[in-house]
Amino acid sequence: MPHAVIVGAGPAGAALAYLLARRGIEVTLLERARDFEREFRGEVLMPSAFDALGQMGLGKLVAEVPQVRIRRVRVYLDGRPLLAADLDAAAFGGVPPALVSQPRLLEALVARAGVFERFRLLRGAVVRDVLSRSGRVVGVRAQTPDGEREIRGDVVIGADGRASVIRRRSGARVRASRTRMDVVWCKLPLPDFQGADPHLRGYLGGGHLLIAAPAADGRLQLGWVIRKGRYGELRARGIAEWIEQLARHVSPDLAGHLLEHRSEAVHPFLLDVRSDRVARWCNQGAWLIGDAAHTLSPVGAQGLNIAVRDSLVAANHLLPALLAGARPDALDAAAGRFQAERLPEVRTIQRLQALAPPLVLSPARWARLLLRASPLALRFMPSGGAVARRFANGVTQVKLRV
Ligand SMILES: Cc1cc2nc3c(=O)[nH]c(=O)nc-3n(C[C@H](O)[C@H](O)[C@H](O)COP(=O)(O)OP(=O)(O)OC[C@H]3O[C@@H](n4cnc5c(N)ncnc54)[C@H](O)[C@@H]3O)c2cc1C
Repeated sequence: MPHAVIVGAGPAGAALAYLLARRGIEVTLLERARDFEREFRGEVLMPSAFDALGQMGLGKLVAEVPQVRIRRVRVYLDGRPLLAADLDAAAFGGVPPALVSQPRLLEALVARAGVFERFRLLRGAVVRDVLSRSGRVVGVRAQTPDGEREIRGDVVIGADGRASVIRRRSGARVRASRTRMDVVWCKLPLPDFQGADPHLRGYLGGGHLLIAAPAADGRLQLGWVIRKGRYGELRARGIAEWIEQLARHVSPDLAGHLLEHRSEAVHPFLLDVRSDRVARWCNQGAWLIGDAAHTLSPVGAQGLNIAVRDSLVAANHLLPALLAGARPDALDAAAGRFQAERLPEVRTIQRLQALAPPLVLSPARWARLLLRASPLALRFMPSGGAVARRFANGVTQVKLRV
C-alpha cells in the first residue's frame, strides 16, 4: 500500500491524514508538539469549513467540539454603535460562524484517523530536513523522542504551517505581500453582556481596531490590531497599561469590564501578520498545503477554513494517484491540478484581505468619514455583501470526490 508522510498536524495535515487513512493509505503524520494545547490560533470556523468537514463525514465530531456560535456582529466607531449585522442571515446561509477550540478539534481529528490501522501519529517529532534522491523528495529526517529518524514514503506533504521546513528545504519560491499590521491577542474573563447573546464586537476609530469575541473556553478573546512593528513599545508599557489604553476606545460597558479585569489578562502574544504564497505548491515532488503553501492575514478569519478546504481538494487529487501506483509523474500532475483548483480561492481571499487595513488603520479624517458612511454604503452597494459571502462560504465550490 502506498505511504504518505505528512508533516504537521494542524487542521490541514490532520484532515488530509484522516481522508487518506480512511481509504486505506498508509499515513505517517509527524507533529512537533506533544499535545495540541498551544497558543490561540485562528479558531473561527466559517460555514465553508463546516460544509467541508460535513462532507468528510465529520459533522457530528465537529458539533461535539467546544464552540460558541457567533450570531451577531456589532461594529462601533469611536466607542459608539455604527452597525450591527445578523450572521444567520443571507450571507451565512443560516449557519453562523463559530469560535471553536482548535486543540479539541485537532485531538478529535487525529483520534478519528487513529481508527484506521495504517495511520500513525508521531508526536514530539520535529522534522529538520527532507531526504532526497535524484532531485526528488522521498522522505524526511526528524528528531523524535526516541532519537533521530528517517521516514520514507511515496509522497511527502508539508502541512507544517507558516514557518514550513518542507517549503524551505524543497526549494519553494515565495511571493510575499507587504502587510501593515500585527495583532496582539489576549484573553480576559467573559463579560456578563456576552452571556445570553454571544456576539463579536469590532471597535474602530482613530487608526485602531479591537476585536472582542467569546472564545470556546468561556473567556473573552481580544485582538488588538496594531501598526506593524509597534509591539515592542506596547510590551515595554506592560499589559495592564495596554488594556487601559484599549478601554479609551470602546463602549462604556466594555470599558468598565476591561478596567475591572485588566490584571487578569492571560495568554498575551503577538501574531506577526504575513501574507504570502509559494509559486509552486509542489517542489521536487513535495506537496505544500494550508499555511505552508499560502500564509494568510487574519482579516476575515480565513486561515483554518482555507486549510480544511485545501485538505479536501488535495485528497481528491492525491488519492487516485497514490492508489494507481504512486508514479512520480502522476503525483506531480495531480499536484498541478490541486494547485490550479485552489489558487483562485486563495488569490481572491488574499486580495480581499489586503483591502481593509489601509482604511481601518488610518488615523486620517477621510478614513473616519468613510467609516462613518459605511452603513449607508453597505445598504446600497451589493459588493459589501458579496465580500462577506466569500469570507463565509468560500470563493469556489469544493466537493469531496474520494
Ligand atoms: C500564533 C498564530 C496565531 C494565529 N491567529 C490567527 C487568526 O487570528 N486568524 C486566522 O485566520 N488565522 C490565524 N492564524 C493562522 C491559522 O491558525 C492557520 O491559518 C491555520 O491553523 C492553518 O492551518 P495549517 O494546518 O496549515 O497550519 P498550522 O495550524 O500552523 O499547523 C502546522 C502544524 O505543523 C506543526 N509543525 C510545524 N513545523 C513542524 C516541523 N518542523 N515538524 C513537525 N511538525 C511541525 C505545528 O506544530 C503545527 O501543529 C494564526 C497562526 C498562528 C501561528
